[in-house]
Amino acid sequence: MESILYKCTMCGKKTSYSSLEKDLGKILKENGFPYELSDFETLSYKSYNCAQCGAADRDRLYKLYIDKYENIGTDTKILDFAPSRQLEEYLRAKSKNYRSADLLIDGVDDKVDITNMHNYKDKTFDFFVCSHILEHVDDDSKAMSELYRILKPGGKGILMTPIIDRDGVQDEDLTVADISERIRRFAQDDHVRLYEKAVFLDRVKKAGFQIHEYGFWNLGPISFIRNGIRFKSRLYVVSRES
Ligand SMILES: [Zn+2]
Repeated sequence: MESILYKCTMCGKKTSYSSLEKDLGKILKENGFPYELSDFETLSYKSYNCAQCGAADRDRLYKLYIDKYENIGTDTKILDFAPSRQLEEYLRAKSKNYRSADLLIDGVDDKVDITNMHNYKDKTFDFFVCSHILEHVDDDSKAMSELYRILKPGGKGILMTPIIDRDGVQDEDLTVADISERIRRFAQDDHVRLYEKAVFLDRVKKAGFQIHEYGFWNLGPISFIRNGIRFKSRLYVVSRES
């Protein structure tokens, strides 16, 4: 999908974006996933990776939000889980107090289990990015309460997971071992749940957070078009009351 309209916010270049339709769409269909790619709330499946820098649609979305609404300075304490290379480079350039974290991947600053972050004291971070983690972990409510614990009062975080906004979507099962069955129910072979929007919002609030929704109306429709981001996309920013 090419267009002179496209300019990526991550790399600042005129670009095109690759489509997931053939690959991911085919995998989901073959395994009997009952929804369409278009049913996902924040998935620009027709314009996914930037041809210039590789940034995914959601990374471009996060940068649009950060540039417009966050005042990240050199002292801002940031925690970024399973970081994307492009967003990590961007945030590291802004803050001296950036930490990347993951339980499984190498090359991060801290090896951390998000459901038990004993290495971080209460109220440590000003800002976190937790994107596409919750659908992988056994106890997502514990992960959310840990995120709340390590966030400073007045702090905020980007909290994102694959979501379908439709009644009856919520499905989770830690015992499913069969890869095809995981794809059929949760859309990926290493996911243990698929979120329905109402359930996601409810769990976030139960962890103590306030949650704010961003979309084309506040991040800018022209920015969305230039970045190939579908108007259906939603960005969730959680905050801890100061
Ligand atoms: Zn780019």
